This record gives sequence, structure tokens and C-alpha cells, in this order.
Amino acid sequence: MSETVVELKPAAPALSLPREIAPEDWARYRGNMAEILDALGLPLGTPGTRDTPERFLRALFEATSGYDGDPKLVTTFPTESDAAGGQPLAQIVEGPIAFSALCEHHALPFHGHAHVGYIAGERIIGISKLTRLVRLFSRRFTVQERLGEQIADTLAALVEPEGVAVRLEASHLCTQMRGVEEHSRTTTTAWRGVYRDAELRREFLDLAR
Ligand SMILES: [Zn+2]
Repeated sequence: MSETVVELKPAAPALSLPREIAPEDWARYRGNMAEILDALGLPLGTPGTRDTPERFLRALFEATSGYDGDPKLVTTFPTESDAAGGQPLAQIVEGPIAFSALCEHHALPFHGHAHVGYIAGERIIGISKLTRLVRLFSRRFTVQERLGEQIADTLAALVEPEGVAVRLEASHLCTQMRGVEEHSRTTTTAWRGVYRDAELRREFLDLAR
């Protein structure tokens, strides 16, 4: 597990625009997909498989809906009054948040759960927004390390907290399905700001366990 702590550097939240695929393009993709599935050995003439190319494309489109952005993520709230008196705030840790992503090397799923924590400055974000944030970046083609970094940087940009911690644990089907390493789980962490303090990192990992 990496112990590197990165300085807080808020980046603009990646709240992209909804994707649009024209019907004629969609029809072409469906044909391409049918050709590929057929070549791989799937019999496409049965009642159960006739619509599989279409269903597979739709499923991929939904599994990558993170590219459509999430406008509901931008709302944050002022921290409750106690914080103004210089009282240091406790960690806010949410998890386990289940997620599924597609590995960008194989376009196969990796899935597991996330713990997201932060120490608020002047603003907080609704707890359910942390789940939205994980979804925004996990429903894409990505790699686990980048996923953690994007969640951390975007949360930092949204609430400008004192620090952010993200821990991801996942199983990768691209290794499991091909029998390389049957049951391994990969853990990654991303730290920002005051999580340079080893005590805080320990406390977060205890809460995340
Ligand atoms: Zn992979």
C-alpha cells in the first residue's frame, strides 16, 4: 500500500456532458458486434441470442454512464457552526460503497468497494453524493489507481476540505476469467492534504476495515 500523500490541488470537477450516439451509428455498431460475437462462437439465430448484440451494446453504454457526468454532484453545504470556532473536525468516512468499472486494458469488469473519507473545511457534501462521486468515475473505462485519484481530486475540488482519503479494494475479472490469478484482490489508496499525518491515515484505514 502506497504511503505517498499528495498536496491538495483542487481541479475542476469533471462533470461532462451526456453522450449521444446517432441511430445510424448505433445500427452499424450492432452489426459489428454481431459479426464479432458470431466469430467468437455465439450462435446468434436463437430466440435467446437474436438481440444479444443490441443488449451487449446497451449494457456497455450503461456500464460507462460515468462519461455522461452527474450534474447533481455540484451541491455542497456550509459546515455546521461548531467548525467556525477553530474546532478541528472529525473524519467523515463513507463505505463500503460498491462499485463496478471496466478495465481500460481489457474492457472487462473489475468490481469491489470503496471507502471515501474527508476532513471538512468550510463546506461539506451530502453523504449520498460520495456514492455518486464513486459512480461518476467507476462507470467508465479506467484503471483502479486512476479511479482513486480522480475520486480524491474531485472531492477536494468540490468541498475544498482539509484532507481526502480514498481506499479501493477490487477483484479484476480480466485476471480471474483468464485464470492468471484466480482470487487476488487489489487494494489502492489515495491521500490528500492533512492525511500526510500517519495517525489520520491509520484512523481512516481502521474505519474502512
Ligand atoms: Zn485488465
